[in-house]
Amino acid sequence: ELKTPITVIRGFAEALHDNPDLPAEMQGEITSKIVRSCNRMTALIKDLLTLADIENIPSSRLSLCDVYDLSERCKSMLLEAFPNAQVIIEKRQEEVSLIADIDLLELAIMNLIENAAKYSTPPAQIHIILDETPQEVTIQITDKGIGIPAADQEHIFDRFYTVDKAHSQKMGGSGLGLSIVKTIVEKHFGTITLQSELGKGSTFTIRL
Ligand code: ADP
Repeated sequence: ELKTPITVIRGFAEALHDNPDLPAEMQGEITSKIVRSCNRMTALIKDLLTLADIENIPSSRLSLCDVYDLSERCKSMLLEAFPNAQVIIEKRQEEVSLIADIDLLELAIMNLIENAAKYSTPPAQIHIILDETPQEVTIQITDKGIGIPAADQEHIFDRFYTVDKAHSQKMGGSGLGLSIVKTIVEKHFGTITLQSELGKGSTFTIRL
């Protein structure tokens, strides 16, 4: 995954070097391809560093976290990138809270709602349902987007797995988002499950 963009960058840089008289338009196309590959590598490296960082959560980073407030913050951040998205947050208990690494839980929710927006025809409709029982907190994120084919569902949390690589890359994805979410959830001794139907939408459920 890291080698491909490097090969692309080297190939195009050499083409520019070896052909100084290329028409300006072609030079422009080549440089934008180089910039796109650099952006892709930057996104990949950022996600890989995040994955490495999650491996050890010091207990000092754990604190009481109000999941409703956290979801509201995630919604605001999502709306900056997807201003038309419709996000409803519903809490089934007066308070839904738990001890967690807030930054990581925020990252997990952000990755899921960003995917919900990325893989929906705009305007995305996203429903977040929060619940708490004496045993667990559940965070359920549902979209009415493109859905995930049944055959892909068992691999969807694997590193670098994408259903449609071209679509994912166009949306700036690295294929690491869901593996980051799963790692975060498991570091909190939780589980994540997926229900999805092609063309109808997807629901990701985190239990902590
Ligand atoms: P990416 O960076 O490609 O978005 P992810 O690990 O976050 O990587 O997701 C892996 C793949 O799962 C995506 O490429 C996409 O095909 C699929 N996917 C994830 N979330 C959704 C969703 N809410 N609706 C439809 N497909 C999804």
